[in-house]
Amino acid sequence: MRLSRYFLPVLKETPSEAQIVSHRLMLRAGMIKQAAAGIYSWLPLGFKVLRKLENIVHEEQTRAGHIAIQMPILQSADLWRESGRYDDYGQEMLRMQDRHGRDMLYTPTAEELVTDIFRGHVSSYKDLPLTLYQIQWKFRDEIRPRFGVMRGREFYMKDGYNFDLTKEDALHAYNRHLVSYLRTYERMGLQAIPMRADSGPIGGDNTHEFLVLADTGESEVFYDSDVVNLSLANVGNGLDSLNYDSHEDMQAIANFFTSTYARTDETHDPKIFESQVPEERRRVARGIEVGQIFYFGTKYSEAMGATVQGPDGKPVPVHMGSHGIGVSRLIGAIIEASHDDKGIIWPEGVTPFHCGIVNLKQGDEEADAACDKLYSALTALGLEPLYDDRKERAGGKFATMDLIGLPWRITVGPRGLKNGVVELTCRRTGESEELSPEAAVTKIAEIYEGIA
Ligand code: ATP
Ligand code: MG
Repeated sequence: MRLSRYFLPVLKETPSEAQIVSHRLMLRAGMIKQAAAGIYSWLPLGFKVLRKLENIVHEEQTRAGHIAIQMPILQSADLWRESGRYDDYGQEMLRMQDRHGRDMLYTPTAEELVTDIFRGHVSSYKDLPLTLYQIQWKFRDEIRPRFGVMRGREFYMKDGYNFDLTKEDALHAYNRHLVSYLRTYERMGLQAIPMRADSGPIGGDNTHEFLVLADTGESEVFYDSDVVNLSLANVGNGLDSLNYDSHEDMQAIANFFTSTYARTDETHDPKIFESQVPEERRRVARGIEVGQIFYFGTKYSEAMGATVQGPDGKPVPVHMGSHGIGVSRLIGAIIEASHDDKGIIWPEGVTPFHCGIVNLKQGDEEADAACDKLYSALTALGLEPLYDDRKERAGGKFATMDLIGLPWRITVGPRGLKNGVVELTCRRTGESEELSPEAAVTKIAEIYEGIA
């Protein structure tokens, strides 16, 4: 993409309404624009990152054997009356009526709808296990939307639902989700720690939230410092080699996070924390919830008659769980975890463009030609550069690149070209090296091998 033809409305001023750094940077980098309280339009740069995250989620869900569907945003209230949640859900549910006076709602989650799909089409235990998921907009009429996309009213969420014959199978599905979520966050350059939590209105006792530690997080969390090391070690040891169908493989990873003390404030018990966890390993911190998994047994299947014929021919209610990833919130979480005073620093796995090209002397024949050549060479390799081809001073171009946070920048100017070199700069470390344009392309291609 050539910046002169792109739509990147960066802001010079720091927006006063934004209280935390990710919100400020998303507004300044022209990623989002508020449409109403807690509701945002996604501008090109933000939308690109959202799509990248969405792709990673799809890929990891597919790898775990889960099947993508798409359910509607507007739902009839009837199903929610069947489960009893129409009255229970409270004011976070946005309710409305259609022209015939039928009660409708904007989906805050979709257990009812997916259970209705299941009961309409699945009747035998032979069709299990089954996990269906979607990535879809949700609406919760949060009393205090804030922090930009972190606590919106409309937000983008992956929600998945497993249907299993037995509790044991459903717990395997739970563990499989735990592992697939660890992989998902790791590919986004994030460390999200599974911590035990309260299940809230979804119901059931088995639940983990995934927390990214950050001072601006809304949850207070309590954990044994070993859990962070274990979480890192697991990802480092290659979740890649695990077999998602193996109950043992999944259980082995999940065990770390059930046996180690890590809880969000809702279920924190100071007595247990103090008698279990040695003092030097006790940590109290703040975290951003980027996902949650639940096992809730037969709560919905019994209420809504979602049964299958078991091996003995008798109908049995299926065991279920649900699992969510806050896709739009993750963008805020990634920025909270990865920025400096100049702007965002995208992890390679989610960056909107793979690298920037800065032409120090736009209009100079040689510099323009060298940039064009770099641009085509990178594009031919399937990479997406953002070429700043505007007639602007170098300082302004660097500031824009730093703000929008592309992990690599190639700087091209007449002086370097005389010696046959361009400059390659790493956004994270600030380190630069001079190398031939061809070598720069090769290096960038190597960096993204296996990522892009
Ligand atoms: P929270 O405790 O932050 O209100 P939740 O526990 O109610 O979230 P879940 O039902 O677990 O949310 O939804 C799954 C994921 O969706 C959450 O882990 C979170 O990442 C994301 N999410 C929930 N509410 C919002 C929101 N208002 N804005 C953005 N993302 C959200
Ligand atoms: Mg939650």
